[in-house]
Amino acid sequence: MDVNSLQTNNLSLNSVVLDLDGVLWIGGSLGQGAAAFLDLLKREGLPFCILTNDCSVSKVDRYNSLTRAGLTLNDEQLLTAPEVTRDWLRDAGVRTIMYLGAPRALTDLTKELRVREVAPVDAVVVGDLFAHFDRGAIDRAVKAISQGAILVAMQRNQRWFDGIEWHVDNGFWVAGLEYVTGRQAVVTGKPYSPAYKSALTRLGLTVPSNTFFVSDDIMSDLRGAKNFGLKAVYFGSQSTVPPWVDYVVGDFSSLASLLIGEKHG
Ligand SMILES: [Mg+2]
Repeated sequence: MDVNSLQTNNLSLNSVVLDLDGVLWIGGSLGQGAAAFLDLLKREGLPFCILTNDCSVSKVDRYNSLTRAGLTLNDEQLLTAPEVTRDWLRDAGVRTIMYLGAPRALTDLTKELRVREVAPVDAVVVGDLFAHFDRGAIDRAVKAISQGAILVAMQRNQRWFDGIEWHVDNGFWVAGLEYVTGRQAVVTGKPYSPAYKSALTRLGLTVPSNTFFVSDDIMSDLRGAKNFGLKAVYFGSQSTVPPWVDYVVGDFSSLASLLIGEKHG
Protein backbone atom coordinates (compact mmCIF):
# COMPACT_ATOMS: atom_id res chain seq x y z
CA MET A 1 0.00 0.00 0.00
CA ASP A 2 1.60 3.27 -1.05
CA VAL A 3 -1.32 5.58 -0.50
CA ASN A 4 0.12 8.72 0.95
CA SER A 5 -2.42 11.08 2.44
CA LEU A 6 -0.80 14.50 2.50
CA GLN A 7 -3.78 16.24 3.99
CA THR A 8 -6.73 15.07 5.98
CA ASN A 9 -10.29 16.25 5.83
CA ASN A 10 -13.66 15.28 7.19
CA LEU A 11 -15.50 15.18 3.89
CA SER A 12 -16.58 11.88 2.45
CA LEU A 13 -16.09 11.20 -1.20
CA ASN A 14 -19.15 11.16 -3.46
CA SER A 15 -17.72 11.03 -7.00
CA VAL A 16 -14.53 10.80 -9.05
CA VAL A 17 -13.28 12.51 -12.20
CA LEU A 18 -10.47 10.67 -13.99
CA ASP A 19 -7.92 11.82 -16.53
CA LEU A 20 -7.65 9.43 -19.49
CA ASP A 21 -4.18 9.64 -21.08
CA GLY A 22 -1.42 8.68 -18.67
CA VAL A 23 -3.89 7.19 -16.16
CA LEU A 24 -6.38 4.81 -17.76
CA TRP A 25 -4.86 4.91 -21.23
CA ILE A 26 -1.10 4.45 -21.65
CA GLY A 27 0.61 4.96 -25.01
CA GLY A 28 -2.43 3.89 -27.05
CA SER A 29 -3.69 1.01 -24.95
CA LEU A 30 -5.52 0.35 -21.72
CA GLY A 31 -3.43 0.73 -18.57
CA GLN A 32 -2.81 -2.38 -16.49
CA GLY A 33 -5.59 -2.73 -13.92
CA ALA A 34 -7.71 0.07 -15.42
CA ALA A 35 -10.70 -2.09 -16.41
CA ALA A 36 -10.82 -3.88 -13.04
CA PHE A 37 -10.56 -0.53 -11.27
CA LEU A 38 -13.56 0.92 -13.12
CA ASP A 39 -15.52 -2.29 -12.49
CA LEU A 40 -14.82 -1.82 -8.79
CA LEU A 41 -16.12 1.77 -8.87
CA LYS A 42 -19.30 0.49 -10.53
CA ARG A 43 -19.76 -2.28 -7.95
CA GLU A 44 -19.23 0.23 -5.15
CA GLY A 45 -21.77 2.58 -6.71
CA LEU A 46 -19.21 5.39 -6.85
CA PRO A 47 -20.13 7.73 -9.74
CA PHE A 48 -17.25 8.61 -12.04
CA CYS A 49 -16.56 10.57 -15.22
CA ILE A 50 -13.51 10.36 -17.49
CA LEU A 51 -12.47 13.82 -18.68
CA THR A 52 -10.08 14.14 -21.62
CA ASN A 53 -8.61 17.16 -23.43
CA ASP A 54 -8.19 15.11 -26.58
CA CYS A 55 -9.94 16.78 -29.51
CA SER A 56 -8.29 14.82 -32.33
CA VAL A 57 -11.15 12.34 -32.77
CA SER A 58 -14.90 12.17 -32.15
CA LYS A 59 -16.38 10.89 -28.93
CA VAL A 60 -17.70 7.83 -30.79
CA ASP A 61 -14.17 7.08 -32.06
CA ARG A 62 -12.75 7.34 -28.57
CA TYR A 63 -15.62 5.43 -27.03
CA ASN A 64 -15.19 2.61 -29.56
CA SER A 65 -11.44 2.32 -28.96
CA LEU A 66 -12.04 2.14 -25.19
CA THR A 67 -14.77 -0.46 -25.67
CA ARG A 68 -12.55 -2.57 -27.92
CA ALA A 69 -9.86 -2.41 -25.25
CA GLY A 70 -12.28 -3.73 -22.62
CA LEU A 71 -13.83 -0.67 -20.92
CA THR A 72 -17.60 -0.62 -20.74
CA LEU A 73 -18.83 2.92 -20.25
CA ASN A 74 -22.11 4.73 -20.60
CA ASP A 75 -22.36 8.01 -22.48
CA GLU A 76 -22.20 10.18 -19.35
CA GLN A 77 -19.01 8.48 -18.12
CA LEU A 78 -16.85 9.85 -20.95
CA LEU A 79 -16.55 13.61 -21.42
CA THR A 80 -14.46 14.98 -24.28
CA ALA A 81 -13.04 18.44 -24.95
CA PRO A 82 -15.46 19.08 -27.84
CA GLU A 83 -18.41 18.29 -25.54
CA VAL A 84 -17.08 20.66 -22.87
CA THR A 85 -16.70 23.31 -25.57
CA ARG A 86 -20.25 22.68 -26.76
CA ASP A 87 -21.52 23.24 -23.20
CA TRP A 88 -19.61 26.53 -22.98
CA LEU A 89 -20.76 27.79 -26.41
CA ARG A 90 -24.38 26.97 -25.56
CA ASP A 91 -24.17 28.80 -22.21
CA ALA A 92 -22.50 31.79 -23.93
CA GLY A 93 -25.30 32.00 -26.51
CA VAL A 94 -23.01 31.31 -29.48
CA ARG A 95 -24.95 30.27 -32.60
CA THR A 96 -22.46 30.41 -35.48
CA ILE A 97 -18.86 29.23 -35.48
CA MET A 98 -15.85 28.84 -37.71
CA TYR A 99 -14.00 25.63 -36.86
CA LEU A 100 -10.28 24.89 -37.02
CA GLY A 101 -9.74 21.29 -36.03
CA ALA A 102 -10.19 17.61 -36.69
CA PRO A 103 -13.29 17.01 -38.86
CA ARG A 104 -14.38 13.96 -36.81
CA ALA A 105 -14.46 15.98 -33.57
CA LEU A 106 -16.79 18.53 -35.14
CA THR A 107 -19.68 16.07 -34.81
CA ASP A 108 -19.53 16.42 -31.00
CA LEU A 109 -19.54 20.20 -31.21
CA THR A 110 -22.26 21.17 -33.59
CA LYS A 111 -25.59 19.77 -32.45
CA GLU A 112 -27.01 23.27 -31.85
CA LEU A 113 -24.56 25.33 -33.90
CA ARG A 114 -24.16 26.49 -37.49
CA VAL A 115 -20.69 26.14 -38.96
CA ARG A 116 -19.50 28.69 -41.53
CA GLU A 117 -16.24 28.98 -43.41
CA VAL A 118 -16.23 32.77 -43.69
CA ALA A 119 -16.96 35.72 -41.39
CA PRO A 120 -19.12 36.87 -39.77
CA VAL A 121 -19.41 34.26 -37.03
CA ASP A 122 -19.95 34.51 -33.27
CA ALA A 123 -16.86 32.42 -32.45
CA VAL A 124 -13.79 30.79 -33.95
CA VAL A 125 -13.31 27.41 -32.28
CA VAL A 126 -9.85 25.81 -32.28
CA GLY A 127 -9.36 22.09 -31.71
CA ASP A 128 -6.64 19.75 -32.96
CA LEU A 129 -5.16 21.19 -36.15
CA PHE A 130 -2.04 19.08 -36.52
CA ALA A 131 -3.32 16.79 -39.26
CA HIS A 132 -5.69 19.36 -40.74
CA PHE A 133 -3.71 22.59 -41.11
CA ASP A 134 -4.99 24.89 -43.85
CA ARG A 135 -3.40 28.31 -44.30
CA GLY A 136 -6.50 29.73 -46.00
CA ALA A 137 -8.66 28.69 -43.04
CA ILE A 138 -6.21 30.39 -40.65
CA ASP A 139 -6.45 33.61 -42.69
CA ARG A 140 -10.26 33.46 -42.62
CA ALA A 141 -10.26 32.78 -38.87
CA VAL A 142 -7.99 35.77 -38.17
CA LYS A 143 -10.29 37.95 -40.25
CA ALA A 144 -13.35 36.71 -38.33
CA ILE A 145 -11.66 37.40 -34.98
CA SER A 146 -10.64 40.88 -36.13
CA GLN A 147 -14.32 41.47 -36.94
CA GLY A 148 -15.40 40.53 -33.42
CA ALA A 149 -15.66 36.74 -33.25
CA ILE A 150 -14.61 35.25 -29.90
CA LEU A 151 -11.52 33.02 -30.05
CA VAL A 152 -12.42 29.78 -28.23
CA ALA A 153 -9.84 27.03 -27.66
CA MET A 154 -10.83 23.48 -26.73
CA GLN A 155 -7.55 23.40 -24.86
CA ARG A 156 -4.29 25.37 -24.80
CA ASN A 157 -1.78 22.88 -23.47
CA GLN A 158 1.87 23.22 -24.47
CA ARG A 159 2.44 19.48 -24.54
CA TRP A 160 0.89 16.22 -23.40
CA PHE A 161 2.19 12.96 -22.04
CA ASP A 162 0.69 9.76 -23.45
CA GLY A 163 2.02 7.66 -20.59
CA ILE A 164 5.23 6.89 -22.51
CA GLU A 165 6.45 10.09 -24.17
CA TRP A 166 5.72 13.83 -24.56
CA HIS A 167 4.08 15.42 -27.62
CA VAL A 168 3.50 19.04 -28.73
CA ASP A 169 -0.11 19.97 -27.98
CA ASN A 170 -2.73 22.33 -29.42
CA GLY A 171 -1.56 25.40 -27.51
CA PHE A 172 0.84 25.63 -30.44
CA TRP A 173 -2.02 26.81 -32.70
CA VAL A 174 -3.91 28.82 -30.10
CA ALA A 175 -0.84 30.87 -29.13
CA GLY A 176 -0.25 31.65 -32.81
CA LEU A 177 -3.79 32.94 -33.28
CA GLU A 178 -3.51 35.01 -30.09
CA TYR A 179 -0.21 36.47 -31.29
CA VAL A 180 -1.55 37.44 -34.70
CA THR A 181 -4.92 38.83 -33.51
CA GLY A 182 -3.87 40.35 -30.18
CA ARG A 183 -6.84 38.57 -28.55
CA GLN A 184 -6.72 36.10 -25.72
CA ALA A 185 -8.56 32.83 -26.22
CA VAL A 186 -11.33 31.59 -23.97
CA VAL A 187 -10.11 28.10 -23.08
CA THR A 188 -12.68 25.45 -22.20
CA GLY A 189 -10.54 22.34 -21.56
CA LYS A 190 -8.44 21.44 -18.52
CA PRO A 191 -7.01 23.30 -16.58
CA TYR A 192 -9.72 25.91 -17.16
CA SER A 193 -12.96 25.91 -15.24
CA PRO A 194 -15.48 24.98 -18.02
CA ALA A 195 -13.99 21.46 -18.16
CA TYR A 196 -14.48 20.80 -14.43
CA LYS A 197 -17.91 22.46 -14.48
CA SER A 198 -19.10 20.20 -17.33
CA ALA A 199 -17.74 17.13 -15.52
CA LEU A 200 -19.65 18.02 -12.33
CA THR A 201 -22.79 18.62 -14.36
CA ARG A 202 -22.44 15.12 -15.89
CA LEU A 203 -22.19 13.76 -12.35
CA GLY A 204 -25.29 15.69 -11.31
CA LEU A 205 -23.33 17.82 -8.83
CA THR A 206 -23.12 21.52 -8.14
CA VAL A 207 -20.61 21.48 -5.25
CA PRO A 208 -17.06 20.27 -6.07
CA SER A 209 -15.64 19.67 -2.60
CA ASN A 210 -16.54 15.98 -2.25
CA THR A 211 -15.24 15.04 -5.70
CA PHE A 212 -11.74 13.67 -6.29
CA PHE A 213 -9.86 14.47 -9.48
CA VAL A 214 -7.26 11.87 -10.50
CA SER A 215 -4.50 12.74 -12.99
CA ASP A 216 -0.86 12.20 -13.86
CA ASP A 217 -0.55 15.89 -14.80
CA ILE A 218 0.11 18.02 -11.72
CA MET A 219 0.64 21.53 -13.05
CA SER A 220 -2.18 21.49 -15.58
CA ASP A 221 -4.99 19.03 -14.71
CA LEU A 222 -4.56 18.89 -10.94
CA ARG A 223 -3.77 22.58 -10.46
CA GLY A 224 -6.95 23.47 -12.36
CA ALA A 225 -8.98 20.90 -10.43
CA LYS A 226 -7.69 22.22 -7.12
CA ASN A 227 -8.46 25.82 -8.11
CA PHE A 228 -11.99 24.71 -8.99
CA GLY A 229 -12.46 23.20 -5.53
CA LEU A 230 -11.94 19.50 -6.27
CA LYS A 231 -9.61 17.25 -4.28
CA ALA A 232 -6.37 16.62 -6.20
CA VAL A 233 -5.12 13.03 -6.46
CA TYR A 234 -1.79 12.58 -8.22
CA PHE A 235 -1.50 9.23 -10.04
CA GLY A 236 2.09 8.47 -10.97
CA SER A 237 5.62 7.76 -9.92
CA GLN A 238 6.96 11.24 -9.20
CA SER A 239 8.43 11.17 -5.70
CA THR A 240 7.87 14.83 -4.78
CA VAL A 241 4.69 16.79 -5.41
CA PRO A 242 3.58 20.34 -4.47
CA PRO A 243 2.10 20.65 -0.96
CA TRP A 244 -1.38 21.50 -2.27
CA VAL A 245 -1.78 18.02 -3.82
CA ASP A 246 -4.19 16.16 -1.50
CA TYR A 247 -3.20 12.55 -2.21
CA VAL A 248 -0.54 10.60 -4.08
CA VAL A 249 -1.07 7.09 -5.47
CA GLY A 250 1.18 4.93 -7.62
CA ASP A 251 -1.22 2.34 -9.05
CA PHE A 252 -4.88 1.34 -9.35
CA SER A 253 -4.75 -0.88 -6.29
CA SER A 254 -3.69 2.08 -4.14
CA LEU A 255 -6.18 4.38 -5.86
CA ALA A 256 -9.01 1.91 -5.23
CA SER A 257 -8.05 1.65 -1.55
CA LEU A 258 -8.00 5.43 -1.21
CA LEU A 259 -11.34 6.01 -2.94
CA ILE A 260 -13.25 3.18 -1.28
CA GLY A 261 -11.82 4.15 2.09
CA GLU A 262 -12.85 7.79 1.61
CA LYS A 263 -16.30 6.79 0.37
CA HIS A 264 -16.99 4.81 3.51
CA GLY A 265 -14.97 7.08 5.78
MG1 LIG B 1 -2.81 12.77 -18.46
